[in-house]
Amino acid sequence: MSEKTPKLRAALDGIPTYKPGRPAPADGPVTYKLSSNENPYPPLPGVLESAVTAAGAFNRYPDMACTGLMTELADRFSVPVEHLATGTGSVGVAQQLIQSTAGPGDEVIYAWRSFEAYPIITQVSGATSVQVPLTSGEVHDLDAMLAAITDRTRLIFVCNPNNPTGTVVRRAELEAFLDRVPGDVLVVLDEAYREFIRDPEVPDGIEIYRDRPNVCVLRTFSKAYGLAGLRVGFAVAHEPVAAALRKTAVPFGVSQLAQDAAVASLRSEQALLERVDALVAERARVVDGLLGQGWTVPETQANFVWLRLGDRTTDFAAACERAGVVVRPFAGEGVRVTIGETAAMDLFLQAAEDFR
Ligand code: PMP
Repeated sequence: MSEKTPKLRAALDGIPTYKPGRPAPADGPVTYKLSSNENPYPPLPGVLESAVTAAGAFNRYPDMACTGLMTELADRFSVPVEHLATGTGSVGVAQQLIQSTAGPGDEVIYAWRSFEAYPIITQVSGATSVQVPLTSGEVHDLDAMLAAITDRTRLIFVCNPNNPTGTVVRRAELEAFLDRVPGDVLVVLDEAYREFIRDPEVPDGIEIYRDRPNVCVLRTFSKAYGLAGLRVGFAVAHEPVAAALRKTAVPFGVSQLAQDAAVASLRSEQALLERVDALVAERARVVDGLLGQGWTVPETQANFVWLRLGDRTTDFAAACERAGVVVRPFAGEGVRVTIGETAAMDLFLQAAEDFR
């Protein structure tokens, strides 16, 4: 056997990866998973039936063009079907967006802290991340993001609401920002948590993109629609950008099961709205509970809350785990807690109170 090993791209150095074969966590108290912003509800009506039908054709490749789903989305959002692209989760579409715009020598701007995939997919592309700190109020600093634009900037992510803080960018400031971004820089409005927004001042990206050829909106079926396990997301953008996304897509990357389940869940709009309303009400209860205990909680418009804990982060996450809820720690910074079942949130609120 040769002693040589394959040369891998240096751009991959330092990127964390999952460890295959990691043992499942030891049994403990009832464990609710509040660490990945998932939806606690079972699939929406019609989804399981669509899955059974799709299972009958597992020997076939899926429809590469996602025709049924694209047609349904075009109708739902009143956009031309040519302005749509689907992908393996919205993180897959985000990766395609970087692949379509940026490579070595180019820059990608985003707020930090924000969605942890942005630095990874930027690094994989060989482009350079330019991270602009959130303000002390945990919101996007759009002026600083504008100031960070150079001739090398190709892409800017605006995560609205921001993961993990839940904070939002409102209409007037977003429009003013977009007016000043050069037209040859693509701005991605990542709206993974769009359905949970109740603040009327937060604009719908799909309205914003219509007059702006350099804006792309990212949406997902993983959060409000509860299909995280099926990996389907989509983008809305003008034709050249949408076409670039279709070129960079992994062929057959969205299974027929995922396509059909997404269509079925789009058709269960009423049940979706009821579930989202219930989660939004639970969010208000959790935020009130935390404020009542004396915590500082940034105003969240997503299905999670953010607690800045600094060097107490790891201890807090461990205390939650002992109480039966798994939250998401960002070491040295804070924890993000998904809004889940009422019973889970009761356990969390008790753990938060005991910790203070
Ligand atoms: N964008 C944001 C802001 C997210 O938080 C997530 C999921 N954590 C995604 C995109 C990706 O979601 P998915 O790939 O499941 O669509």
